[in-house]
Amino acid sequence: MTRYALARVVLASIACGSALEAQSSRPRRSQARTVAPVTGPGVSSALAAHRRATVRDVRYALQLDVTRRDAAVGSVTVAFQYRPLADRRDVVLDFRGLGVDSLRVNGNAVIVNGAVWNGAHVSIAAPFIRPGLNTVTIGFRAPIAAAGASIIRTRDATDGQDYLYTLLVPSDANLLFPCFDQPDLKARVTLQLITQPSWRALGNGARVSVDSVGPRWTHRFAETRALSTYLIAFAAGPWTVASRNVALREGGPEVPMSMWARASRAKDADTDSLIAMNARALRWLGTWFGTPYAFDKYDFLLAPAFPFGGMEHPGAVFYNEESFIYRERPTATQLLGRQATTFHEVAHQWFGDYFTMRWFDDLWLKEGFATYMAAKMQASLEPRANAWKTFYLRNKPVAYSTDATAGTTPVWQALGNLDQAKSNYGPIVYNKAPGILRQLDYLVGERAFQQGVQQFLQRYAYGNATWRELLSEIGSAAGTDLTPWGAQWILRPGMPIVEQQLTIRDGRITRLRLSQRPAQPRLSGPGAWPIKLQVLLAYADGSFMRIPVEMRTTVLDVPSARGMRAPDFVFANDGDFGYALVLPDSTSVAWLEQHIGSVKDDLLRAMLWGALWDLVRESRLAPERFITVALREIPRETDEQVVGALVGRLSTALTRYAATRVRDSLLPDAQALLLRAAADTTRAYGPRKTFLDATINLARGPVALAQLDRWLEADSIFGLPLRAPTRWAIVTRLMSRSAPTADARLAAETQRDSTTEGKRQAFVAGAARPDSATKRLLFARWFQDATLNEEWVTSSTRSFHDPDHSELSRKYLVPSLDTLRWIQQNRRIFFLGSWLTAAVGGQQSAEALREIDGWLANQPALPLDLRQKVLQARDELERTVRIRASTFKPARQ
Ligand SMILES: [Zn+2]
Repeated sequence: MTRYALARVVLASIACGSALEAQSSRPRRSQARTVAPVTGPGVSSALAAHRRATVRDVRYALQLDVTRRDAAVGSVTVAFQYRPLADRRDVVLDFRGLGVDSLRVNGNAVIVNGAVWNGAHVSIAAPFIRPGLNTVTIGFRAPIAAAGASIIRTRDATDGQDYLYTLLVPSDANLLFPCFDQPDLKARVTLQLITQPSWRALGNGARVSVDSVGPRWTHRFAETRALSTYLIAFAAGPWTVASRNVALREGGPEVPMSMWARASRAKDADTDSLIAMNARALRWLGTWFGTPYAFDKYDFLLAPAFPFGGMEHPGAVFYNEESFIYRERPTATQLLGRQATTFHEVAHQWFGDYFTMRWFDDLWLKEGFATYMAAKMQASLEPRANAWKTFYLRNKPVAYSTDATAGTTPVWQALGNLDQAKSNYGPIVYNKAPGILRQLDYLVGERAFQQGVQQFLQRYAYGNATWRELLSEIGSAAGTDLTPWGAQWILRPGMPIVEQQLTIRDGRITRLRLSQRPAQPRLSGPGAWPIKLQVLLAYADGSFMRIPVEMRTTVLDVPSARGMRAPDFVFANDGDFGYALVLPDSTSVAWLEQHIGSVKDDLLRAMLWGALWDLVRESRLAPERFITVALREIPRETDEQVVGALVGRLSTALTRYAATRVRDSLLPDAQALLLRAAADTTRAYGPRKTFLDATINLARGPVALAQLDRWLEADSIFGLPLRAPTRWAIVTRLMSRSAPTADARLAAETQRDSTTEGKRQAFVAGAARPDSATKRLLFARWFQDATLNEEWVTSSTRSFHDPDHSELSRKYLVPSLDTLRWIQQNRRIFFLGSWLTAAVGGQQSAEALREIDGWLANQPALPLDLRQKVLQARDELERTVRIRASTFKPARQ
């Protein structure tokens, strides 16, 4: 699956939401008997291991009636082969839904009491189970809700229609139905859905029939291939379905592929190009992996209010509707992001679905591979799009900014219980893991990398494996033992910072030294990470020299650089093959400060901007120096993605890192420049839209706010059509800054945009109101209002914690930390990270930092995964405080 598109986080202002149904998703402890740990909450790794040893060949025949509003009524027949071990134990299934109503084991009825179902597991006593084939049939009920359930219900405000879809990853299959909820007990699934009349239904398997007589329709689906439980999915509702005939395999026959969308949004979707994009990816990957698409059909659904970017259910991929159907003209960055998400989910059909990690400790395997393969495919299919620049910008800065913190984890993350799997998601698996795969590919060479991956997929087809098996296959293809590499990159936490030192004498290099150190020495311990890098010596006349080096020690003097003509600048990670934060030497920095815009290569220029920014974040370069260079270069920067990164950093430098005095003196210049750039009709749409968005987000004084207000009267700004998303960004900014017209504008816009998205945006804008009563009410509502969709909560936290309101919101900092345990139990995967980023990111002061540290000090029993998440979020605040307190020497890094 993919995280929510980054662009959304950066551009899209704010959020709203609620917190709800804790109760329905928590095991009912009141019914609990005294249980052995194995039947405690969640799925322990011990339970999973025992089942793996005793259970195989699992099949689920699942029937669900979803015609009721708040609950599905279901029945599942679980068939499995059982091989008893010496210590014969109960067979344990996992289920934490609303109720278990009946149980039959091998044809015999069993009375359901607290000993059989404890709210988390269904235990079948050993005497009922026989060696060989067993069948267990369970009648049960599962929740349907806007949030906190495995069946999500969303209501379309435009036409009042309800839509249902499931989301089981990582640990909610057992909230939907009784099952062996662990990725390495794959099962064939036969689904039967009973819905309201006229509804359509989508499942992993092909639909074989619909019984459309009577008040309830029955949809039957073909048995699937072997699936891990978290990959089971269905959707039901009055969806609009568009089909096209496409080949799923290179040279294969054309078969129908369908796109499912809400009736009110379907007409705005790029149906043809989305279907073509999915099909093209399936064919390219089938060729690259040497294994054609391995499931029986492929459809995809654009899910409203989807909490992720996408989810890779085999044969029934779900994408985030809002990132796939645009309400205003998309920028090239948005289109590339949509393509990257599509390619990522399609790549999962092999890495994740066809082969699956044995346990969620290896989550990085599927996520890292999906993102890395998406970029490889983009580079091959769209050679002009500079996919590696997109890859760098979308992954490396995010990865480094988490991996350099005291809260970072190894890529492989131990996991004792499935109910903590959510904590394993984050930039380490999504952004670092693809980065180290790029490094591995460069290290062993593309041919060995591809051959190793192909061997691996053949060996573990429809099965499970761990990272060790993968490295073993790639290592054998490359003729090298990758165990030491794995120990450093997969098991060791943290990352290297590589410093360049350049010594010049008489116009020649006397020494080019690279030295590496851990960003977090106490966490990572001593010793070098093995890094293969491409060192660039660059000259103002456009000539250059590339030197591949392998760093196996903490200090390396690049031998072949010695005696070479003195370069204008050096960059030790040319091509972005290495995973390391590279800090340039002072000579290079001095040249880059003057000439960075003259670097022609887009990827290199993007990385050099990243290096200058890293110097700011390391308190080695004054924010005003970065701002000065950015203001000089922005008018002539033509690459849309580099513009996006640059404008984002300019905003951060101005509003967070720079001293107030510096901000007040430089902000007017920045605002004027951004406005001029937005109005410049000779520039492309994407950069202009970026400048316009930044102008809105940076508007502060009465003049700037009055200008925003006037824009709402127009159909366009500087010829750029003014559509709902930008209108809402303006209204939210007016609210956040208490502009005199803010309330009237909010009321008018709410009336003007009556769509579901309009309602969400109105909620987000309302959350931006800077008064203490609004904050108090909203904070309570997040936890009490069971009708609020989780995605609304996420977006409203960002406007609630607007950094301009830090005085008002600081008193919610500690309460936000106090809720983490509840959030971990009751919210979906990415919520907790977003929650912390918003709450901590809304603060800039040393006092706020002390509050966090005081809270951490008073929580000796805080689980490690939560402590790590807090430390990850704390890092940016600590840097902000440190940078603001620094006295920078002029022109010296
Ligand atoms: Zn993914």
